[in-house]
Amino acid sequence: MSSFSTGQWPVPRTAYVHVPFCRHRCGYCNFSVVAGRDDLFDRYLAAVSRELESLKRPTLDTLFIGGGTPTHFDVERLQQFLLLMRQRFTFAVDYEWSIEANPEDITHEKVALLAEFGVNRISLGIQSFDEDKLRILERGHAPQDAMDAVQTAAELISNVSIDLIFAVPDETIEQWLRDLEVARQLPVNHLSTYALTVEKGTSFWSRRARGELSGVGECCEVEMYQMARNILQNSGFQHYEISSFAQSGSRCQHNLAYWKGNCWYAAGPGAARFVDGRREVNHRSTTSYLRRVESGQSPTAELAEINPEQFARERAAFGIRMIEGIDIEAIEKETGFALGSVCRNAIVQSVEDGLLVQPTPSRIKLSERGILFADTVASRFLGP
Ligand code: SF4
Repeated sequence: MSSFSTGQWPVPRTAYVHVPFCRHRCGYCNFSVVAGRDDLFDRYLAAVSRELESLKRPTLDTLFIGGGTPTHFDVERLQQFLLLMRQRFTFAVDYEWSIEANPEDITHEKVALLAEFGVNRISLGIQSFDEDKLRILERGHAPQDAMDAVQTAAELISNVSIDLIFAVPDETIEQWLRDLEVARQLPVNHLSTYALTVEKGTSFWSRRARGELSGVGECCEVEMYQMARNILQNSGFQHYEISSFAQSGSRCQHNLAYWKGNCWYAAGPGAARFVDGRREVNHRSTTSYLRRVESGQSPTAELAEINPEQFARERAAFGIRMIEGIDIEAIEKETGFALGSVCRNAIVQSVEDGLLVQPTPSRIKLSERGILFADTVASRFLGP
């Protein structure tokens, strides 16, 4: 429980470490990534070690290693990285340690290494099992690699999560159904699925502007999303957050910590943290990040202090993504801030618009229609 209302922020029990390396940059990718710069591995390991040193080995409930592609490290560097995490953090008894991975890197040797160091959740960037979709997305693996990667990971890691993208240019309903069907038959505990978004600055953005890529249309996108919800829920997955589905006991504890407004540490290029009421983001460029850490400067590029009202609003905006919704009274108690009054207009308007339902006086959650418009509701909570 946060003692935030007394100005004392809780000590984080969650951490995110960003590994920026990838084999190549996919056309839709807008993350902090460097491709073809494996020569920076050693400088990165030294810099992250230095950045994390100041934390004094905090105890974590969850650690998430994201990217980029953390498993792009060669075996020797991967071992050094995992050892570093063990040296820089203490793990609570029931910890969750997740790592993102791409199918082309999944070998028995690497998975065994992850398991040996205590990684117990792997998040595979599958995106699709369909050859045409993978080609359009510029992914580096074939459908069979993706299926093999899930099987290999599941042999040693207890919680296997996969990401799937839908509404890819030219994708048909039949292709998406096949993706879901293959996923259903694999040993997958958790699945996150997103409609493709085309962000400014990506090569997909310029290609779309030139008319080389077209979307599937809003109706088709909604149909695909609803299809995923139906098929996955009928296959034993619980839909627990807008984009997330989990078998019983396999919800992502790390993401739940974000949605519940917990504080967290972060390190690496472009990594964002929330510590002592401050949101900070590191330099996105890997080389700028390295230069700054190596010369003893702070890697932080952006910093914002969060005031009580903002925090309460953010708790509502992030929390409403969870299908079970949020408990207004609990947030008020936790933050010391009257969320029910501050967000009153947002709540009333969203209930009137049929986007929110209020099953009890204290609980609000997205309606069936609201699940499709979660961003609208969240932006209302964040205020003008
Ligand atoms: S593998 Fe993932 S992080 Fe790397 S470029 Fe592709 S989408 Fe981006």
